[in-house]
Amino acid sequence: MKKITIDDLNLKGKRVLVRVDFNVPIENGKVADDTRIRESLPTIRKIIESGGKAILISHLGRPKGFDEKYSLKPIAEHLSKLLGISVKFTPDCIGEEVRKMVSELKEGEVLLLENVRFHPEEEKNDENFAKELASIADVYINDAFGSAHRAHASTEGVARFVKETAIGYLMKKEIEYLSKALTNPEKPYVAILGGAKVSDKIQVIKNLMDKVDAFLIGGGMANTFLKAKGYEVGKSLVENDKIELAKEILSEAEKRNIKFILPVDCVIASEFSNNANFEITSVDKVKPDWMILDIGPKTIETFKDVLKDAKTVVWNGPMGVFEFDNFAKGTFEIAKVLAEITSKGAVTIVGGGDSASAISKAGLSDKVSHVSTGGGASLEFLEGKELPGISAIKDK
Ligand code: ADP
Ligand code: MG
Repeated sequence: MKKITIDDLNLKGKRVLVRVDFNVPIENGKVADDTRIRESLPTIRKIIESGGKAILISHLGRPKGFDEKYSLKPIAEHLSKLLGISVKFTPDCIGEEVRKMVSELKEGEVLLLENVRFHPEEEKNDENFAKELASIADVYINDAFGSAHRAHASTEGVARFVKETAIGYLMKKEIEYLSKALTNPEKPYVAILGGAKVSDKIQVIKNLMDKVDAFLIGGGMANTFLKAKGYEVGKSLVENDKIELAKEILSEAEKRNIKFILPVDCVIASEFSNNANFEITSVDKVKPDWMILDIGPKTIETFKDVLKDAKTVVWNGPMGVFEFDNFAKGTFEIAKVLAEITSKGAVTIVGGGDSASAISKAGLSDKVSHVSTGGGASLEFLEGKELPGISAIKDK
């Protein structure tokens, strides 16, 4: 790891500002899914144990100005329970009250600041706002992988005005796993790509083209490739303006001798609904007024066959409309295979927001090597882009 990490710094007595990703679903004033909060606990506990003063900052949702609906207060309560200590909460993230509470903060205590996006300056990466945030910190730690692809004041700007910067444990884990998918992956290396649109994944395909041994393509994006190969895809989700590009990708893969495996059969439905009539059919027999909503059993077997020997797998994008039970099988079966090969020593990495919820719905999140907490961030990482929230942290 070339970035300075939390382990490299002396935190005793220091005011440690931590950018966490507490952008979690809140229902009826309670945290509905606390995965991201729990993932940040190692970093928070480390600061407490080191005698640092933890000041946590995060966004929640997309508020326009102050809005009670997007308050982080329920998170302070939830976090208090998880940590077993009372987490203090400030009604804003800058200003007099914040400075006062920070100055009264004792070693080993935790303070959560109110939603940073209540200030439009956050997303503008306003320099003065970043300086304000920096003024309450001796150390800045970025542990918000899910926001690392955004150059905002609390993820990027602030780092320029705090002397000591580091990444936290969650950020470190994310970088370590996702890097395995890009540098020196153990072979055979297989990328499973799916999800809605090929246009969302083009850069990922291009970036992985010279790294993987095989691509397994499912989900809505497979339709565009099938159409490019001349198949009827009926009313399926398809991007007609990406057909040419799909052809180029197919021929590029062939030229490089990389397996680019498309579905051979699929589950077609009469309409986009869980209650639709559905049938399994080979890809050359898709009915003109039906749509492909999942990969079929033969495709699942083909994919399994490729995956069983894989040593590294990266998965981005569900194989079908897994939100509908009738079309979740392809996605869940692939999740099962990943769990199996993980238990035999393969490194399996899941990126993408919907892919993460799919594997969670399958109950297999802890059976794969790593499920990224950042949908957009993991995608940009796999595209080979530099993430501003990571770049802002000093190297060792
Ligand atoms: P991720 O968030 O994991 O990167 P995407 O956002 O690219 O994944 O795509 C996820 C969405 O793709 C899901 O909501 C799923 O319903 C949809 N999807 C998958 N297969 C199909 C299909 N055959 N037709 C239409 N939508 C699909
Ligand atoms: Mg998505």
